Amino acid sequence: MDINLYNSDGRESQIFNPIESGKVGLYCCGPTVYNYAHIGNMRPYTIQDVLKRAFTYFGYDVRHVMNITDVGHLTDDGDEGEDKMIKAAREKGMSVWDIARFFEEAFWTDLERLNISRPTVSCRATDHIDDMIGMIETLEEKGYTYISGGNVYFDTSRFPDYGKMALLDRQELKEGARVGVDTNKRNYSDFVLWFTNSKFENQAMIWDSPWGRGYPGWHIECSAMSSRYLGEHFDIHCGGIDHIPVHHTNEIAQSEAASGTKWVNYWVHNEFLLMKTGKMSKSKGGFLTIQSLVDKGYDALDYRYLLLGGHYRSQLVFSWESLDAARSARESLVRKVKALLGEASADGELNEKAREYMSGFETHIADDLNTPRCLADLWSLLKARELPASQKLALIELMDAILGLQLLESASAGEEASPLDEGIEALIEERNQARKEKNFSRSDEIRDELLSRGIRIIDTPQGTTWEKV
Ligand code: AMP
Ligand code: ZN
Repeated sequence: MDINLYNSDGRESQIFNPIESGKVGLYCCGPTVYNYAHIGNMRPYTIQDVLKRAFTYFGYDVRHVMNITDVGHLTDDGDEGEDKMIKAAREKGMSVWDIARFFEEAFWTDLERLNISRPTVSCRATDHIDDMIGMIETLEEKGYTYISGGNVYFDTSRFPDYGKMALLDRQELKEGARVGVDTNKRNYSDFVLWFTNSKFENQAMIWDSPWGRGYPGWHIECSAMSSRYLGEHFDIHCGGIDHIPVHHTNEIAQSEAASGTKWVNYWVHNEFLLMKTGKMSKSKGGFLTIQSLVDKGYDALDYRYLLLGGHYRSQLVFSWESLDAARSARESLVRKVKALLGEASADGELNEKAREYMSGFETHIADDLNTPRCLADLWSLLKARELPASQKLALIELMDAILGLQLLESASAGEEASPLDEGIEALIEERNQARKEKNFSRSDEIRDELLSRGIRIIDTPQGTTWEKV
């Protein structure tokens, strides 16, 4: 089956064509480990996990590489401000190395709780300083750099395609030069490859280089590490939409200038998760983490369900109400799976009807990862009268290999389905049937009966769930 992805480079949906048959080289910008990741940061990692699982399902061998930024990311993506790691270390009274390891560990814990599989290769910037220096030397030999104010800069005017993916306007960039803040830059869009001119005394993370002791710019790490682990030309690069105009634009310029060839074939960018009050910001504090959701009694998988309920290229506004709805929907799915497990075990082979369900699901996931449609497919198979429990379970196993909601694991791990739960499910089923037949008096009767037993019914676009009141 063709897999369609929306490519930010060209701004259109394209059929995925691998560089090497049956293989996918995938690079995802990883976290800057100076603080806990917030729940917005978890959106890219969740969707990248679904992308990886989908390609694996369709038979591809996926090599997934992710960096850990533990040096060199300033508080502003455009070389302004302070080093994020150093600022955090000072504020917390810890060494920068300890800060980095502490928050890296917290990051892996979050991924695990969200059932996000680990990358094939995860690489720390501080372990790859030589690769970065090597790439800067190549850029220097090819005439793409200049030294100014003690720092090595990339000269964007030497790279004619600068800003092409981001559709940046060259004229606007030129005009921006007049208001540029870093007076060492020749062009507004130029950026630092190597800092020797540190603004901070006693900088802990510095290395020897041909340009003096110092540290790398943030952008060079992704270019250097991706080429080390995926080669100079690979299939897919992911990240949040905020990275298009600066970070990814600079990554493309450095990588293509150094290699002289096209770098990445498909750029997959996720839209932002927003709070009702606006953007969530790691550097400004006061944000929600996976731990804060767990502390409030949610399962991290409730949040995974919430994320899958929106398409990754649409903005998603977080609210406690939507997390509540996600929780009751996921719990209801687990209960339904539990009830099925009480009846049968999964069939090894799909019958014709089940194959139709699976092919609908495959079409939707291959359509630029349409996870909301895939969730709807999952709900509709659970309701399907024509499928026996064993076929339903087989389908759930296949679909959940991509969605990653751990439905079968949660259903088999928990207690046995209580007779109370089963009774409620049966009444909900009867109410659904009554509504289909437009027998609204019976459907209202069931709603009231359940409410009198302390159960509130919730109708969602994906189906009906319930909660205790
Ligand atoms: P950082 O650790 O700040 O470099 O961010 C990690 C990833 O999260 C990057 O791919 C960002 O583009 C992405 N990101 C940051 N904030 C949000 C948000 N509110 N919603 C979705 N993605 C985000
Ligand atoms: Zn990156």
